[in-house]
Amino acid sequence: MSPSCSNASDATFNSSGHSSQRPTESALKGESDDSPEDLVLGAKSQDYSSGPVASRVVEDEEFEMILEDSPTGEPSQHPTQDLWAGTTALQYLQEKEKTQERLRLLLVGKSGSGKSATGNSILGREAFISKLSARPVTMTFQHGCRDWAQKELQVMDTPDILSSGVSREGAAQGPWADIACCTPGPHAVLLVSQLGRFTQEDQEVVRRLQEVFGVGILAHTVLVFTRKEDLEGGSLEEYLKDTDNQELALLDMFCARRHCGFNNRADGAGQEAQLAELMETIEVILWEHEGRPYSKEA
Ligand code: GDP
Ligand code: MG
Repeated sequence: MSPSCSNASDATFNSSGHSSQRPTESALKGESDDSPEDLVLGAKSQDYSSGPVASRVVEDEEFEMILEDSPTGEPSQHPTQDLWAGTTALQYLQEKEKTQERLRLLLVGKSGSGKSATGNSILGREAFISKLSARPVTMTFQHGCRDWAQKELQVMDTPDILSSGVSREGAAQGPWADIACCTPGPHAVLLVSQLGRFTQEDQEVVRRLQEVFGVGILAHTVLVFTRKEDLEGGSLEEYLKDTDNQELALLDMFCARRHCGFNNRADGAGQEAQLAELMETIEVILWEHEGRPYSKEA
């Protein structure tokens, strides 16, 4: 179904928090400069339809991400890419007026960071189980949808990438490998971290994310900080500007300062406002990539 995967090359965010190269403009945009030093550990080539794991994921998880509808009702393999390929930014904006966009948002982060709660906030309902627990609560890939401002948002909640995402050899494994090779890929990855608690584990999550998807994934990534209420009215912008956490500052720079805060216990108006802010940030990613979702090949 999908072509085999290849590595994107780009700036690598190491678990030590240091990049393997200076953050060039292309690094921030997720473009390849073909520099061999930039390569990170590669995910194995994989076809979605090729293995028993793949079909199990599709059936068991009802992973509609890969079962997009074509105008004829037949599943299309690359609907978003077909729609937007080769368009200019202006054409993209014009097309956008005519069609309802379907945006795939992938939640990633360490256990307890607030992924499921953030997914629920975006969907406006309790679609995913979110609770304080000493053990990971979300064990499988799950998704929920909602319409929002002429868009269909498809939100994918994910299990712990640290314990299940990558094999010892550093290749994406199991359902994570399937997700990584799924076409079309996510339009945006929401990298969820608890405000004030960006630890080595979070850095490891970033490294795994790059191992699974390719280093270019940061060009489609938004940093989402939960427990925004802890800012007590202060601005996230100021917080990130003043942080002495070098790794966090570096990651924010690699993600071209795309970040936003979520108070997942906010009331209706607060929830709407933070979702609108997130969507504005995602619009920038869409504009930069002419509406195309992330793809390793690109
Ligand atoms: P996950 O493991 O990353 O999916 O994390 P969960 O969504 O299960 O959240 C873990 C805990 O953090 C739960 O008790 C949530 O209620 C809590 N939580 C998540 N986001 C927020 C937030 O913005 N504010 C507060 N106060 N608690 C939050
Ligand atoms: Mg969860």
